[in-house]
Amino acid sequence: MSYCRFWWDGSDVYVFESERGIECCGCKLPDHPPGFTVQTPEEMIEHLMEHRAAGHTVPEYALEELRREAGLPLAFPEKTGLEYAREHFAWAERDGTDGARMLARMWIEQEEQGPSVG
Ligand SMILES: [Zn+2]
Repeated sequence: MSYCRFWWDGSDVYVFESERGIECCGCKLPDHPPGFTVQTPEEMIEHLMEHRAAGHTVPEYALEELRREAGLPLAFPEKTGLEYAREHFAWAERDGTDGARMLARMWIEQEEQGPSVG
């Protein structure tokens, strides 16, 4: 199954479950192979946050699906991006790697600067 595809909803990532794990097909991040693959949804969430930090568009539903699989709190439509970012940050503080914590902080900073256009 795929979590998101190129072009759909402006997505810059194409993520799907392959025989090797969860794959970021045609990964555009520097220093990553085009078929960057991880073994857990948590790792892919972290990877997709790197894409967002790089300014790439990652559809929210792709992250939601990964969160669902990882048993993490889901986003709700009435939540603001900042609340959502704080929730992710709380998770990263608890269970995440150093990289996840750093990216969660960056996400919160971005949200605090106001909603992004588009
Ligand atoms: Zn990637």
